[in-house]
Amino acid sequence: MPTCAGLAEISTDRALGALYGLAIGDALGMPTQELDGPTARRILGTPPDFREGPADNPIAHGLPAGSVTDDTMQCLLIADLLISGGGTIDPHRLAEALAAWEREMAERGRSELLGPSTRRALAAVAAGEDPSQTGRTGTTNGAAMRITPVGIATPVEPLDRLLAAVVSADLVTHDTDIAHAGAAAVAAVVSAGVSGETFEQAALRAVRAAARFGYADLFEEALRLGSLDAIVDRFGTGVETAESVPTAFGVARLSHGDVWEACGHAAALGGDTDTIAALAGAMVGACTGLRALPPDAVQKVREVNDIEFESRVDGLLKLRRR
Ligand SMILES: [Mg+2]
Repeated sequence: MPTCAGLAEISTDRALGALYGLAIGDALGMPTQELDGPTARRILGTPPDFREGPADNPIAHGLPAGSVTDDTMQCLLIADLLISGGGTIDPHRLAEALAAWEREMAERGRSELLGPSTRRALAAVAAGEDPSQTGRTGTTNGAAMRITPVGIATPVEPLDRLLAAVVSADLVTHDTDIAHAGAAAVAAVVSAGVSGETFEQAALRAVRAAARFGYADLFEEALRLGSLDAIVDRFGTGVETAESVPTAFGVARLSHGDVWEACGHAAALGGDTDTIAALAGAMVGACTGLRALPPDAVQKVREVNDIEFESRVDGLLKLRRR
């Protein structure tokens, strides 16, 4: 049995694995987002590596190789809100933080980074609607994309507590059963990984979490499919939760605990590649830990984006141990 100090070390390594896995996937999938599979594979090259945003990509143009996008940025925002809020996310504060982030992106000429559900919800909040009502139509993958810090900050048992934390992070932009199911599945894998479980163990928890919102079948099916082609044929690669989240889950399972392989495969699929790769990277990274990630890739996303996950992981794991 590992000692308490040993368990804390495992949790820290796994939490960092999740966040750096997410950032690596986000950055690998950045140049290929919105493109078809053959074009995505041509851009990534052989072997696949971080590439700059192509001039003709309407979202990624001009971004240097290794740049992360809204997936990683919104995870940082959620992590900071959780830490400053003592583990609670207030929908008003989340709406304000997302709106401030949106303004900052617009000033940098990057307003196209915002997803459709988040854009619609923030416009409704700005028009005076109650933030607890503005997520009623949000079905896309923005909830799953930003949920990883909740999985780090919240134990996987009791499940009710984890699901309540997921819903409070989703509410303002994605208050639908499918968006909650996708976010809950990702949070369950991340949280189980942080507690030391394998992906196979964590995946069963994801199915149980999604079942509470009526969507166990999507994730059970993703676990049964034996090839990337079968996964893409069944679910697709679009921004809808029902497409990209089970696809990321299936890709994670087929990657045999290798974050770089998971992210490379996801980035090459085409479609919403940055989010699919970010989700796959977070789920695999949570179940293998930072020490299993390629050090060069970790260094690259740290340097290019000037991001720092270590102090946030300390804060999130303090919340988890309460
Ligand atoms: Mg993105």
